[in-house]
Amino acid sequence: MGKPTGFMEYPRRKTPWRDPVDRALDYYEIYTPAEEGQLKKQGARCMNCGVPFCESEHGCPIDNLIPEWNDLVYKGEWKEAYERLTKTNNFPEFTGRVCPAPCEGSCVLGINEPAVTIKDIENSIIDKAFEEGWVEEKKTIKATGKKVAIIGSGPAGLTAADQLNKVGHNVTVFEREDRIGGLLVYGIPNMKLSKSLLSRRVGLLESQGIVFKTKTNIGKDISAKELKESYDSILIATGSTIPRDLDVKGRDSENIHFAMDFLTQNTKSLLNSSLSDGNYIDAKDKNVIVIGGGDTGTDCIATAIRHGCKNMVNMEIMNKPPKKRGADNPWPLWPNILRIDYGHEESKKRFGSDPRRFSLLSKEFLSKDGAVSGLTTVEIEWTQGKDGKMQMKEIANSEKTWEADLVLLALGFIGPEQEVLNDFGLSTNTMGNIDSAYGEFSTDIDGVFAAGDARRGQSLVVWAMNEGRGAALEIDRYLEGSSRLSAPSLKLGSLKT
Ligand SMILES: Cc1cc2nc3c(=O)[nH]c(=O)nc-3n(C[C@H](O)[C@H](O)[C@H](O)COP(=O)(O)OP(=O)(O)OC[C@H]3O[C@@H](n4cnc5c(N)ncnc54)[C@H](O)[C@@H]3O)c2cc1C
Ligand code: SF4
Repeated sequence: MGKPTGFMEYPRRKTPWRDPVDRALDYYEIYTPAEEGQLKKQGARCMNCGVPFCESEHGCPIDNLIPEWNDLVYKGEWKEAYERLTKTNNFPEFTGRVCPAPCEGSCVLGINEPAVTIKDIENSIIDKAFEEGWVEEKKTIKATGKKVAIIGSGPAGLTAADQLNKVGHNVTVFEREDRIGGLLVYGIPNMKLSKSLLSRRVGLLESQGIVFKTKTNIGKDISAKELKESYDSILIATGSTIPRDLDVKGRDSENIHFAMDFLTQNTKSLLNSSLSDGNYIDAKDKNVIVIGGGDTGTDCIATAIRHGCKNMVNMEIMNKPPKKRGADNPWPLWPNILRIDYGHEESKKRFGSDPRRFSLLSKEFLSKDGAVSGLTTVEIEWTQGKDGKMQMKEIANSEKTWEADLVLLALGFIGPEQEVLNDFGLSTNTMGNIDSAYGEFSTDIDGVFAAGDARRGQSLVVWAMNEGRGAALEIDRYLEGSSRLSAPSLKLGSLKT
């Protein structure tokens, strides 16, 4: 700890995002370049608190060595900071941009002061490392001659591929889409994660020997049987991709879409033709309703704003979260508080108010000539039942009709698609996810492992990376009898969204 009084001298200062009015006119990243002097001060705020809760059960899922690199940044030792960061994190340029930072929620300074800007510091370390040319092709160690197939190129699959390649296994990643990245490419929009960063990383992985096969749907183009015959081990990292639907009257009206159709088509068209091919769902001049909060809802809001929508309403069934932690949500738990994400900020600037409306239940879609024209809702009240579970009650005479020309359903995902799992003959648990224990990642079929959202259910990039590292360790043990790989400590009760 270089500066014992840093946390008393310097206030928390985040690297600002670009102006919300300007940035909503383009698809470039929302971030501004970090200022080195400011980052050193933020690093100096880390208290070296003895028990770094930021790395604990409720903190960073991949056990990032946060106090160490905070201190190194304070001292200006950036290369060492980069080396410490990459001991635990395969892709800090992804987490540094998109991670919700549970580490900051459990930072000890956060008990009575705003937390250290850990995520900003992480992002700046890796950006500087790329600028300085420290991130280079690393040659793998002696080849083992063992072949591993990874199905799915999201953060779980990519992390496992990187780890297994480092210990000399011959890794092939199969992806049914036309681009590598899973939700990093076709879920999270450019504004939050530039696809050029993804291509740069995939290029590096390729140069290190990993083989990527796109447009290859396992279970259709190549059967599970063929794959098992050709590879020594297989990792299934196919994500949680079945969207939750809204089964209310009028759902079959035109212009009601799942969020992922809207987001995927937009990014594809943007990357293929800067949107000139028109192969996307256009929100221009439309009254848009996004049903469902969370990251997916925010990304829909921000994308529709960039199209030039006429109006934006974001409906959420849950109550409005409090501004500060409640008594039942103490430190170091993830703070369930009202946050203003980039899409909300942009919508507020464009239309004058926060687009979110809480405690609303959708009752019926209205339509005109077959296309959606409105949505009726009723207000609800949440109360705790005798069994401790939250119960929903409709409030009498609270019906309201909202105008809508385009509705986007961002209601989460109910599990992985079953076709490929059936082809392997894999068991699923009561949630429909692959039946495979956390920490073991093996399935009931010898040599077949599972990781990421397909195993744990819809979650976060950093959790997919946690599982990718864990599964790689277990696969390496399966193939070699022991492993030199490291994996994050088991975190059994931590943040899971
Ligand atoms: C819109 C959206 C925004 C999000 N924003 C954030 C965020 O800001 N921060 C955050 O931490 N998390 C965010 N998440 C969650 C995060 O993206 C996921 O938890 C994470 O990507 C899961 O990683 P994964 O590798 O398990 O699966 P995925 O990223 O879903 O990747 C699975 C891949 O498997 C491929 N696949 C599936 N079946 C087959 C098959 N049979 N053959 C070949 N390939 C197949 C799919 O095409 C896909 O590419 C967001 C999610 C969504 C939907
Ligand atoms: S990966 Fe996420 S939780 Fe871990 S240090 Fe980075 S921002 Fe924090």
